[in-house]
Order: sequence, then structure tokens, then C-alpha cells
Amino acid sequence: MKKNLFFASFTMLLLLILSSSGCKEKEDLKDRFFSIEEADMNLEFGSTPENKIILVKTNLSLNDWKAESEANWLFLSTQEDASQGASLKISATANTSGERRTAVVKLLSPVQNYILNVTQYGSSDIVLSEDIKVQPSGGKASECQPGQDIENTWDGKFSADGANPYHSPWGKSANFPVTLEYYFQGGADIDYLIYYTRSGNGNFGEFDLLIATDEGHSDWKKYGSYNFRMQNAPSKITFKTTQKVTGIKFEVKSGASNFVSCDEMEFYRYNQENTLEKTLLTVFDDITCSTLKEGVTDEQINALPDYFVRLAKALQNNTYDAHEKEFRIREYAPYSIPEEWATKLMTKKYSNLDNPTGISVQQGDEIIVLVGDTHGQQISLQSIWESGQEYKQTNVSGEVYFLSPGVNKLTMRKEGQLFVMYNTDLTSPDAQPIKIHIPMGSGKVTGFFDLKEHKTDEKYAELLKKATHKYFCVRGERIMFYFHTAKMQEFVPNQILSAINLWDDIIGWEQELMGIEDVRPSQVNNHIFAISPEGSYMWATDYCIGFVYTYLNNILLKENVMAAKDNAWGPAHEIGHIHQAAINWPGSTESSNNLFSNYVLYKLGKYCSRGSELNDLADSRFVYKKAWYNMGDATHQGEDTEIHMRMNWQLWNYYHRCGHNPKFWQTLFKLLREDRIIESDPGAAQLKFAMKASEAANEDLTDFFDLWGFFIPGEDTIDQYGTWKYKVTAEMIKEAKDFMKKFPKPKHAFQYIEDRKAGDTGLDTKPSDTGYYTQFEGEVKPISSNIVYSVSGRKYTVENGENAVAFELRKNNAEGELIYFFNMFSYDIPTGVDLTNTQLYAVQADGKRIEIHKK
Ligand SMILES: [Zn+2]
Repeated sequence: MKKNLFFASFTMLLLLILSSSGCKEKEDLKDRFFSIEEADMNLEFGSTPENKIILVKTNLSLNDWKAESEANWLFLSTQEDASQGASLKISATANTSGERRTAVVKLLSPVQNYILNVTQYGSSDIVLSEDIKVQPSGGKASECQPGQDIENTWDGKFSADGANPYHSPWGKSANFPVTLEYYFQGGADIDYLIYYTRSGNGNFGEFDLLIATDEGHSDWKKYGSYNFRMQNAPSKITFKTTQKVTGIKFEVKSGASNFVSCDEMEFYRYNQENTLEKTLLTVFDDITCSTLKEGVTDEQINALPDYFVRLAKALQNNTYDAHEKEFRIREYAPYSIPEEWATKLMTKKYSNLDNPTGISVQQGDEIIVLVGDTHGQQISLQSIWESGQEYKQTNVSGEVYFLSPGVNKLTMRKEGQLFVMYNTDLTSPDAQPIKIHIPMGSGKVTGFFDLKEHKTDEKYAELLKKATHKYFCVRGERIMFYFHTAKMQEFVPNQILSAINLWDDIIGWEQELMGIEDVRPSQVNNHIFAISPEGSYMWATDYCIGFVYTYLNNILLKENVMAAKDNAWGPAHEIGHIHQAAINWPGSTESSNNLFSNYVLYKLGKYCSRGSELNDLADSRFVYKKAWYNMGDATHQGEDTEIHMRMNWQLWNYYHRCGHNPKFWQTLFKLLREDRIIESDPGAAQLKFAMKASEAANEDLTDFFDLWGFFIPGEDTIDQYGTWKYKVTAEMIKEAKDFMKKFPKPKHAFQYIEDRKAGDTGLDTKPSDTGYYTQFEGEVKPISSNIVYSVSGRKYTVENGENAVAFELRKNNAEGELIYFFNMFSYDIPTGVDLTNTQLYAVQADGKRIEIHKK
């Protein structure tokens, strides 16, 4: 009874609640809304797993509406979050059936119901007629290792499978040029050829390609010159037009380790039966399939393979997602060949990954790549991924897939992000942009930021937010960042311009000193590729520079770069290693690049330069009797970089900052690229540097380099990134000095120039009293006739010496041997210096020595 009563009253209560809420619902319904975009009512999915988010405009709570579907290949979830409001996420599993399938999704709410039509396309149903392989009827090599003759190159068997390649005789340098002739009896039509290396000795370097069209294949005509750069990867040559030949001949002029080898040489002609391309051209304007022909009918569209139906419909209905389209359809600009320019400009190799696609792939993905007119240029796709046992690091090369004009169907051998490889001679009229379309369903768009194209921080923030891959690419003018997306999102979610401009500038300043403005960017335009390894710290090598990913906040935020002197110094030093070769020799490798880092500090305009006080030079030379190559206390690879780096920086301060020859370094770089330092002979190298510096300055720099210890005969070993024999003889010194004598004496004694003074930001040395760079500018200020000195023990004190640039202790007279120098008004001469019969002189900026009398 009690129970019944309770039940009755509970029911009453429930009714009361329900009826009251019912009333409220009816009342509020007119204020409630629930809608989706019309475009979202027809959804198309590719064959690979894919998610779509449908935004729902509603003020209903998440419990008041729902989505349902009977398709077992669709997964639905409704969600609500503060930033984008309510949404429906539809996930489609892979469609491996090869057939298109459809489903409906019902979106149900008290306000409004929707039916969404979903189509998922089948996995690629594109059948490409393969190109026709043309088998040579015979051939001849100018020389070979017994058993490794030319017929091994058309047996269809690769050395990876244990087959023999062609190889020039073992144990000796090949007799260049080595010729490989291929014959095609009765003539053959050939569109392209592929050279497979055996990945090692003998990989082709430079060669001429000749063709014969006469019956006896004896009348060879040169078709072109090539350089496969001895790389461990296949190379392809596509003829501009089909060649009807009886013979093809390679005249190989260089090969890896002075051998010549070839695993396989394949010749092809395009398949004229390629009906797919003909069919596509009935619907699309051109083979990149990026626009529809005017007046195209549904019937024509539906006659296409399924893969292209989806594409055509998206173009027709204007439903090709703008973000996807931006990255899937692009024109790719030509870039120079970094290997070639590294040799010419004496730098480490810049990157060849200048053309990101913003599309990532998984291993096993089958992708379609639609390539427009290639203007006869060789292009390929390369997928870039990471490797490493201890820690992960981005690779600078990966799987390469050759591209031909037209439809390319490729199976991805490894995962990664795709880059278009289009590296060529920029002066060629054929170096034209190439249009490439990687349509929907092929790979996944992650996007990238290009400074020239995307311009603003807002666009960067938008693109970074949409990024789907582990790495995100930012392309500036001279540098490309390829960093962890998550780190960029963490450190710089909304701004990139200050960082990309800063690093473009830093590299630009370094390039500016090298005197390459005549070729960059007209002939050489590659980027430096910066990656973010998950270990190590900071380094530079061929093809890339690395900044450990935990350090990215220090290089991506200008205020962090500027926050400490070393933050910019470190990277500028590393990038300096890329650029230093022309002015470098063993024993200087960790300092000659600091010309660049000091210049970068100067250009950044906050911190003063770096390096020892000149007193260290005085001690090295006159107390410890050291020469240039071994002065100071070795800190970096057997070198005292702190002293060494001042020499180049003095030259810059005097010629550039004081304006006496603002093209000095550019000229010196050019001279040393024309007539190069031989690395294996550091003694001769240092003298050559002194001579070329005199030539660049058009002044006799004997006194300058004398103070820097260049003219001290001796023999020794230098250990720096190798072991080098160092030898400087009296004869070599005479020869150098005789050469330098041809030029007039410099107008100043600038071996004493300093650019640091008390109060400078970043000052980490004791500033000198004399020799500040402004003393070398304009009219020479005469030294006061009241200059006097006093001496107490070994401490010399000079009065009224303000206009001197340094003080010298010389034996007997002004022409006498230099015993020591200092640039302070009061200085303790080290005990190692013999002061007997010495005279103190004040050096005037113009080099005049003025005797100082005792007070
Ligand atoms: Zn270094």
C-alpha cells in the first residue's frame, strides 16, 4: 500500500514535469535553429580512409539531435566544442572493392531533418598502357672487365639480384672517354631511356649522348651533354621528340672513383595506344585535368574511369575544396642544380628540395600524377621521410619516381612528403614552369607556406592549422624550414614572417659577402634546407642544416634570436661553414667562417663583434713566438678561433665599414674561386690568401699579414678535420712578398683596427684605448706633440696618445724589429719580452711611427 501510494505520486510528478517541459518545447521551437550548408548534402569520398567534418548551425544541445546511417563503412560521431560549435564527423573506411558505393546519412532534429548523400569512389580503376621497351640488337663498349661487358646492360637483370653489370676494367682508372654503343637494327623509335647505376664505382658523371640514323650506325651526331653526377640513383633522359635511331652512344667522360659502370640501360617508346589520355581530353582542357572543356556533358563525364568522374564532377559543381585544390594543382618553377653550383661557388651543397608539393603519402599508396608540358625537362617526384636509430632525423633524399608528360600512375614504395624534383640549367629557354596535378584521392594534402605566394602571418596560421603531416614546410627566398608541425604549432602558431625574413636575411648577408650577385638568383636559386632532428644540437652539412627540435623556439622567434649573442652566432657560424671554402685552408676552418658570423652580428645591429683582444695576438707573436697556423690556445679542432677570427674581421672593418674598398671581400672571394687554394697544402694556402687579398685590395698588405704571422718559415703538421703537412719556406715567403710589392702601400696601419669599445652590447673582452675604427675614417688625426710615456717596472703608461692606433716597442729605431705592441694607455709588458734597446713609438692611423719621449 505504501508502495502504491509512492508510485502514484511519483507518476503524477513525472506527468507534471513532462507536461510542463512539453509546453516549454513548443513555445521555444520557433526560436530554435538547426541547419547545415547545402554543399554538405552531397559528400564524396576517395577510396582511402577519410574524415569529413560537417558544421551544424544550431542552438540545440548535443543530445537533441543525432545522425544515423545503415552503411557499415561509415562511422558517425556528433560533437560540440567552443571554437567551432556543433559538428558531425563522418569517417569512411577504405574502399578496396574497385567499385563506387553510395549511402545516405540521416541527420535528425526536432527542428529539421536532412538526408546526406554519400558517394565513395573505388580504388584506382585506371589502366595505363605501359610504354614499350625497345631491346637493343647489339652493342659495343670501348673497354670492359672480362665477363662484365655491355650485353649485361640489356639482360633485364639487376646487380641487386646477383647479375653482372657492365664495368670498366678493375684495378685501374678507366680510359676516358669510355664509349658504350647500343644498336637498333633496322632503326627504332625511342622517346626516352633510363640508366640504372650499380650504386657505386663507375656511376656516370659527365657524358655526351650521340645518335646514329644511318644503317651502319657509324655516322654519330651529338644529341646533348649530360651530367648524372655519379649519384647512386637511376637517371632518365627524355628526348624532346621521338628519335628514329639505329644507334645510341654514350661517351662517358667521368665516373665514380674513375670507373665506368652500368647496371641496366633501358630504352622506351611511348605507347601510342594510350586511349586514356585521349578520353580524358574529351572532358578536360588539357592533360593536367584541372579545368573542364566548355559544354562537356554528364554522359561524357560518366564515360571516364571512376577516378576521373569524381574529379570532373568536383570541377563541374565547383566542389573541389579550395585548400586541396591549391596544393593539388600547381605550377612548379625550375631550380638550379645544387651540385653544380656548389662546385662553381665553392660552397657546401644547397638543397634540391626546392619544390614541396604539400602532399604526403603512405607506403603502398597508388597515386595519379598528371603532368603538363615538361618542355623536354627531366622531372621526378621524391618522397622525403625520416630515419635514425638513436633519434629521428629528416632524410635529404628518398624514393624517386620519374614523371612523364601525361598520366603517371605510381605506387609509393615508402611513406613521406612529396617534392617535385626539377633541377636544371636556368639559362635554358626550356627552363619553364611545369604544371602538375595530383588529384583528389592521391596522397593527402598537408600544405605548406610559401613566402612569395602566401605572404601573411594570417595565411600561415590558417595553413599550419590545416597541416596533417608530421613535418611542415615553410619556403622563404633562400631558406626552407622543414620542421615538426607540432613544434611550429607550439612555438609559432600565428607568426612566421619575422622568422623566415630573418633567416632569409642571414643567408642573404652571407651570400652578399661572397660576391655571387652576378649569378644569384638568375642562375642559381636553390634554398638551404633546415630540418629539426630529434637529437644532436646544431650543425650544417651538404644538403641541409639541422636545429634540434627542442631548440626551434630560439630560432623561430626573432626576440629569442636577439636575446643572446650566441643565439644568432651559432647558426650564422654553421651557415658560414656552408660558404667558407674559397677563403679557407686547414688550420682556419673553425674561424674563417666567422667572417660571416661577425658580419651577421653587425647586420643584426645589437651585439658587438666577437673574438680576442689584439693583446692575444701580441702575446702569441712576441711572447710565444707563434706563427698564424699555431697561434693561441687551441679550442676548436686544434685552432684558437677567437684570435684567428679577428684577422678577417679587421679586413672587413677597414675596407667595408670604413669604406676604403666596399667590394674587398666580394673581389677576394671571386679571385679565390678563379685561382683556388689547394687544401692539402696549408702553407702555400695561407700565402696565396695574402697575395689574393693584396690583389683584391690593390694594396700591398705585407705589414698586415706580417703581424698576423703569415711570413714565418717552418714545417709542422696541422690536425683539423684530417692531418695536413704544413710547410712554409723562405723562398715561398719571398715569392709572396715580391708579388704583393707590386701594389701600393695601404693608406693606414689597419692591422691595429678594433671595432669594440666600452659600453658595447655583448662586449665580452676588455676594450682597447686606441685603434677604434673611426680613427681610420676621413682625415688622419695627427698624434699630439705632447705625447709622453712613463715606465714603472714593466708597466708603460702613455699620456696624450688619444690619436694613436697602437703603441709599438721596436729595437733601436722606427725601422727596427717589432718587439711588442699594445693598444692601452697603460700596459704591463709580459716578462717574455726582452726590452733591451727598445724604443716606444706611437703608430698614427696613416702608419707613421712617432717616437714617444719619456716624461
Ligand atoms: Zn664550426
